[in-house]
Amino acid sequence: MPKNMKVLFAASEALPFASTGGLADVIGSLPSALVRNGVDARVVIPCYSSIKHKNSSDITYLCDFTVKLAWRNQYCGLFTAVSNGITFYLIDNEYYFNRQSLYGSYDDGERFAFFCKAVLDMLPRIDFFPDILHTNDWQAALSGIYLKQIYRHGDQRYRPIRVVHSIHNIEFQGIFDHAILGDVFDLPSQLASIVDYNGCINLTKGAIVCCDRLTTVSPTYAKEIRSPSFAFGLQHIINQYSFKTVGIINGIDQDYYNPETDQTIVHRYSSPEGKAKNKLALQHELGLAENVNTPMISMITRLTSQKGLDLVTAVIDEFLCDDVQFVLLGTGDPGFESFFRRLEEKHPSKVRSIIAYDKALSKKIYASSDIFLMPSKTEPCGLAQMIASRYGTVPVVRETGGLYDTVKYYNDVTGDGNGFTFSRYNAHDMLYTLRKAVGLYRDFRDKWNELADKIMKIDFSWNVSAYRYTELYRDVLSLER
Ligand code: ADP
Repeated sequence: MPKNMKVLFAASEALPFASTGGLADVIGSLPSALVRNGVDARVVIPCYSSIKHKNSSDITYLCDFTVKLAWRNQYCGLFTAVSNGITFYLIDNEYYFNRQSLYGSYDDGERFAFFCKAVLDMLPRIDFFPDILHTNDWQAALSGIYLKQIYRHGDQRYRPIRVVHSIHNIEFQGIFDHAILGDVFDLPSQLASIVDYNGCINLTKGAIVCCDRLTTVSPTYAKEIRSPSFAFGLQHIINQYSFKTVGIINGIDQDYYNPETDQTIVHRYSSPEGKAKNKLALQHELGLAENVNTPMISMITRLTSQKGLDLVTAVIDEFLCDDVQFVLLGTGDPGFESFFRRLEEKHPSKVRSIIAYDKALSKKIYASSDIFLMPSKTEPCGLAQMIASRYGTVPVVRETGGLYDTVKYYNDVTGDGNGFTFSRYNAHDMLYTLRKAVGLYRDFRDKWNELADKIMKIDFSWNVSAYRYTELYRDVLSLER
């Protein structure tokens, strides 16, 4: 077994370079935690044009080569950068990655197939053959599939590499028409059965079949995705391969999310009392009534129904009869975007809906609000509830996936628990729970501050989980070749 394990993470986004959600947080922070455990962890992501524009002075050109994808011979530029002590490799191709958004193009399948091939073709150029290739979500899935089915039968240096695949959200599986198996994915028809599922190509299914270990991002989600209610059709495969599946809870980067040192917030603080100045500043910035005692409830989220927004839209008008302020930051489904814009028009003194993706503003909101609402229908892990806690903002969540694993109901007699939770996917259960939280804030401020103080001190760092990943990698490397 190698002394310094080498692990290469392949993913479609990572902080601080490109981010649309929790995956970027994880890929931007887990590798640093592994390095602290003595692992040589590195990351490869696509070099989206936004990265080149924003970080031009921080990234260095390494080399270029040609990637063969079926009949195409495509240019691939390779850049490198160091962030948080981690070496990043950036796969460049203007045709594939100079787009308005990271995802949502008609040719996403081809774009990420190119990325996955380039990841493997890059290895001899950087003279880094990892012990573990850790692929994340469907966009990186083909790297593991190509490695196990094709590359390891060619150049001997690919042969020992083990593959760990992580599912960050099983809703997104990478489903494509069979017609593009050879023409776009460059897979011979003999390999069709590896990726075939329900009459389509399913890249997540292919990754599950090919990987040595499958992980998902919380123990509860690992159990949930065995059932049809959570698996978006993939439950048979998840059950078939449960012997290689494990759920490991995500952590957050507690240095990046640290109210004591965070330069993006107005007033830095180490106890909940310090939130007041931030709240007043945010109320001022957003044009809300400046009153430190008005409970401020926030949501920072992708606007999709997975996040429980159907519950919110059903009862928010009722909730806004109370003396509260509601601040939402998010982008996503146009229907939800216009709902929240209209909500602000209807309740201009109480609601601000900021339809944007804005990391700096998100931190101001975490630092200013009192209650963080996350009523998800499903939640693989959820990072926002942990980030909110770090800033002393009490989470109100539905008991599912990682929310169930990280938030326990607060008992105002014993002081146990770290938030407010409800179980059924029911709008009035959510409203009742939200009102319980507001009631504690309003009527028992001492207890509230004790709770807020306690949650700021919870260890949501990567320490424990990075250790578990290190053990998992060791375990995988001890498998017979
Ligand atoms: P998911 O990965 O399903 O989107 P998570 O809770 O795991 O949900 O992670 C969401 C991450 O993205 C958090 O860091 C959250 O603060 C951030 N985020 C979500 N929406 C926005 C937004 N509109 N602006 C800034 N950050 C956002």
